[in-house]
Amino acid sequence: MLKKTYETVVIGGGIIGCSIAYYLAKEKMDIAVMEAGKIGTKTTSAAAGILGAHSEINDDFSVFYPFAKASQAAYIELKEALYEQSGIDIGYREGGILKLVYSQAEKQNFNYLLKQHTVEWLDEHRVKELEPSISSNVLGATYIPDDVNVLPDQTCHAFIKSAQANGASFFENNQVFEIVNKGGNYLVKTAQGEVEAKYVVLATGVYGNNLFHQLGLAERVSPVKGESLIVSHEQQLLKHTLFHNGSYIVPRNNGKFIIGATMMENDWSHTVSLKGADFLIKKAKKMLSSAGKFTIEGVTAGLRPTTFDRRPFIGVHPEQEGIFIATGHYRNGILLAPATGQMIRDFILGKEVESKLTEAFRLDRRQHIIV
Ligand SMILES: Cc1cc2nc3c(=O)[nH]c(=O)nc-3n(C[C@H](O)[C@H](O)[C@H](O)COP(=O)(O)OP(=O)(O)OC[C@H]3O[C@@H](n4cnc5c(N)ncnc54)[C@H](O)[C@@H]3O)c2cc1C
Repeated sequence: MLKKTYETVVIGGGIIGCSIAYYLAKEKMDIAVMEAGKIGTKTTSAAAGILGAHSEINDDFSVFYPFAKASQAAYIELKEALYEQSGIDIGYREGGILKLVYSQAEKQNFNYLLKQHTVEWLDEHRVKELEPSISSNVLGATYIPDDVNVLPDQTCHAFIKSAQANGASFFENNQVFEIVNKGGNYLVKTAQGEVEAKYVVLATGVYGNNLFHQLGLAERVSPVKGESLIVSHEQQLLKHTLFHNGSYIVPRNNGKFIIGATMMENDWSHTVSLKGADFLIKKAKKMLSSAGKFTIEGVTAGLRPTTFDRRPFIGVHPEQEGIFIATGHYRNGILLAPATGQMIRDFILGKEVESKLTEAFRLDRRQHIIV
């Protein structure tokens, strides 16, 4: 049953909304999360779960990279804390990523990454020692041991259970239709009734444009759809995630592998096409010649929430104090969930947030870009 008032209402029960709820509940705030469908079943459930703080960065070493690295590092303690509070194992899997290289030209692209002290170049011989089943024409690999992976569904549910243990409430099948400014507080109109809150956080993934419009926000979030295959093999075959040109094979802690993922701009469908599956199989075979022996366990598709500059929106509504936005995490929502939850917590508690982060992720940053 909904109460009449909450201190904070979080809209959206994906990894971002659940992380925010977790960090706020730990501060003993009175929180409700409103989820239109079932918790964690939208984009979050389609993710491979790579914490790719290094592998996903090819520019922006000044702001995005340290933010991503801090979030990746937060998982090291979080995995224990979440297990203690929820009893759920988030499937944190060490091993890291081998970014495979097939030509000298490709190797050049990694010069920036090899400057990071934990990242190492491995020649063909070393790569094959680590992963004997790898395809034979590989030249070498950039090895990133820090870019581990987790199970997104479990992580989301571990956040929820831990937040519940600290008093947070979650309401499924409860779409939010409207937010009305009541001069200091907000009236949140949901499928299950109306509630009042001092703070409202939109963690709506790609699905919040109607609320953005209603709240007078000029920006929109658009989808980059990604399809993946969930496969298994009679042997544990790989110790490391293999990565090449945006595609990957991720060995998971539940015995399965994820082969991902396609990148389809502005595609709002949730289906997996034969064309997409064919693309993924070809990519997997390039990295692992025996990939044809995988058994297909399932397919999945999700919509990466994407902003105009592919960086998230994390900040306060430019004109309505008390409304916060946390969306647009694109390819990195699982990685960035802890740092995003902490940042929204700090905004709400009035704690200091580094100005370079506030500036980089503010909603109205497009107007501040000097051309
Ligand atoms: C194929 C694929 C692979 C990926 N791999 C990785 C990876 O390896 N590592 C990584 O870090 N990231 C990865 N990502 C990205 C990651 O999945 C997303 O960035 C992340 O899941 C976004 O989380 P979210 O909570 O913002 O969105 P969602 O999970 O979509 O959650 C938003 C929720 O808000 C709810 N909602 C929206 N509007 C309302 C409303 N009005 N009322 C109530 N509820 C509402 C929705 O129902 C939804 O459940 C991948 C994505 C895809 C598609």
